Amino acid sequence: MTNDRESLVVVTGAGGFIGGSLISALRARGYKLLRAVDIKPLDEWYQRFGDVENLSLDLNLKENCETAAKGAHEIYNLAANMGGMGFIEYNKALCMLSVLINTHMLQAAVKYGVQKFFYSSSACVYNGEIQKTFEAPSLKEGDAYPALAEDGYGWEKLFSERMCRHFSEDFGLYTRVARFHNVYGPWGTWYGGREKAPAAICRKVIEAKVSGRHEIEIWGPGNQTRSFMFIDDCLKGMDLIMHSEIREPINLGSSEAVTINQLVDIVEEIAGIKLKRKYDLSAPKGVNGRNSDNTRIQKYLHWEPNTPLRTGLEATYRWIYGQYLARERGEEGVVRESAAAG
Ligand code: NAD
Repeated sequence: MTNDRESLVVVTGAGGFIGGSLISALRARGYKLLRAVDIKPLDEWYQRFGDVENLSLDLNLKENCETAAKGAHEIYNLAANMGGMGFIEYNKALCMLSVLINTHMLQAAVKYGVQKFFYSSSACVYNGEIQKTFEAPSLKEGDAYPALAEDGYGWEKLFSERMCRHFSEDFGLYTRVARFHNVYGPWGTWYGGREKAPAAICRKVIEAKVSGRHEIEIWGPGNQTRSFMFIDDCLKGMDLIMHSEIREPINLGSSEAVTINQLVDIVEEIAGIKLKRKYDLSAPKGVNGRNSDNTRIQKYLHWEPNTPLRTGLEATYRWIYGQYLARERGEEGVVRESAAAG
């Protein structure tokens, strides 16, 4: 029998935050044959390793998905057009076009007899009607139906989840689907418009600290509630879910809910600074309240994401600070390469 660690594992979206971190984690776990795929040119990947097969391919195209999937034992399909609220609110069609990636990757997985296929869905699949309260309703997996997902991005995720299910039922493909709730951590997007709240707030606090202008602009009223999952928990959860018996979509998120104001409080504390807050009520703010109900993941795995927000934010803040200073010096501080990067 083949040892999984000797078989080819493919990660799509590997030039991005979670995909790049997953490649790094798989290397650390001893996986020898890794293929990393992303549409971005190689020199724009957040992390890149010389002992990995790195391919710059547009996975909207079926033939590129076949190149990506050929010979793979496992595929983690993380490639998508995504970003924070500002991005998904103004790029609905682009978000929905990720359906091309997911369709073609599933077809390619069937064509090449891939053993295991992981799909990263999102908390944005949940029905918006039950997220109108600021009291952070804990969303159970069943709350995705009746469907009223986040327009654009969320509908595409829900549709692609169902495609995974039907590819399993009709073609016997082994699929696992996790609904990520806000992932944050080092090696993520922290500027440019696609960054999400934790990274955006870290950057804004750093900018205020460095410039001496002790003000921060917050999108929305500040009392929206969310939970945030540290990247290490996300990586562990993906591994557990991929190799589990969990056949239906499952939440992968922290259940430590905070308001955006509390998130700012924590980052201010880490930075040792207090800022004047300005609220931009016209900015995209997403749903009012959202938290992850972790009953199902606890039942299956006896585990749930558990890194305290403060701990994860300290690591994230430190990393963004380093990136910020490198950028100020005109150095490209983002890409991590091993000695013989390919
Ligand atoms: P990211 O934007 O950092 O990474 C996604 C990568 O996909 C990018 O590098 C992008 O270049 C690549 N991509 C986009 N279109 C492509 C194409 N046509 N062909 C090949 N590559 C393409 O985002 P992330 O935070 O790492 O997210 C990874 C996955 O997790 C996505 O599917 C996302 O929807 C999902 N997710 C993330 C979060 C989060 O909080 N980060 C929450 C829920 C779901």
